[in-house]
Amino acid sequence: MSDHYAVLGVSRDATPEEIKKAYRRLARQLHPDVGGPESAEKFKEVSAAYEVLSTPDKRRAYDMGGDPNGTGGGFGPGFGFSDIFETFFGGAAAQRGPSPRQRRGQDALIRLDIDLAEAVFGAERQLQVDTAVVCPTCQGSCCQPGTSPRTCDVCGGRGQVQRVARSFLGQVMTTSPCPTCQGFGTVIPDPCLDCSGEGRVRSRRSLTIKIPAGVDTGTRIQLSGQGEVGPAGGPAGDLYVEIAVRQHETLTRRGDDLHCTVTLPMTAAALGTTLELQTLDGEESVDVKAGTNSGEILTMRGLGVTRLRTGGRGDLHVHVDVKTPARLDEEQEQLVRELARLRGEERPDGRMEATHPGVFSRLRDRFAGR
Ligand SMILES: [Zn+2]
Ligand SMILES: [Zn+2]
Repeated sequence: MSDHYAVLGVSRDATPEEIKKAYRRLARQLHPDVGGPESAEKFKEVSAAYEVLSTPDKRRAYDMGGDPNGTGGGFGPGFGFSDIFETFFGGAAAQRGPSPRQRRGQDALIRLDIDLAEAVFGAERQLQVDTAVVCPTCQGSCCQPGTSPRTCDVCGGRGQVQRVARSFLGQVMTTSPCPTCQGFGTVIPDPCLDCSGEGRVRSRRSLTIKIPAGVDTGTRIQLSGQGEVGPAGGPAGDLYVEIAVRQHETLTRRGDDLHCTVTLPMTAAALGTTLELQTLDGEESVDVKAGTNSGEILTMRGLGVTRLRTGGRGDLHVHVDVKTPARLDEEQEQLVRELARLRGEERPDGRMEATHPGVFSRLRDRFAGR
């Protein structure tokens, strides 16, 4: 390890002000933009010494013979050469050379509303996409046909200009993007008129998208390279289609299963019947056995949603709601009274039982609209 005090040319009992002053003097001499690349190594060493001696804790540790950064080198994690460099020289250590005119385009996101049946079975949809495409006139060159970019004569094609600036270190050279060519190193003397020299134009196009069976609200379908074309005809970003499934009139989805409710007259629930239900697969019949209660669930296997990854399908659960008849006419009332008499149910005994917890979750579901 080099002697930080010797590197800065100060004594071991130098004050913080003396250390700062020594560092400024050396940094002025050794800054790579002033002294050239050969001084960069020396500058690094000086900066490392300054970093330790200007931080009281690190200086103390160093004076006691320890390694203040614990790495063996001069630089600890999180405080690299370029950090110091940028702190004092405003990003002069950033990348050199002209920046490319052509860049990747942005990703785009569009929302697509689909019906439940489309989510269950999959679908193909035509989409209108309004996005940037390569300019057909200049093919992304940004130049009028027959012309070409010219090397910027302000920066000589480097994309950067250097200027002398005053800082607390005194005069230093700073490097910044060339204002004439915006850092590209070239200028376009005759910009394409159709894209104003952008190399891309907005265009509306039609796109066919395949929606896989089993998608749900929030599913994103990625279409590579269908986003917008970048500046100067750069590669296109991706297009994401976010699915939103419309609420179905009667069917509610939970995972891969569907749920609905049917209302049964008390008599049908008592006698049993067969129901014809309008499912997503068309009309399907389901048997209701005699003596079915309110709250019972009839499961129709394989009539639910397609499983997105594994294929196969969930189930359709039919929740039974038994309706007790109201407003009986005279004859009906006589019949029900007769039935009650025959069953010995004229005076039910009102026996109490604990309420099953499931009732509460059903109530909650009902209030939550599920
Ligand atoms: Zn053009
Ligand atoms: Zn320039």
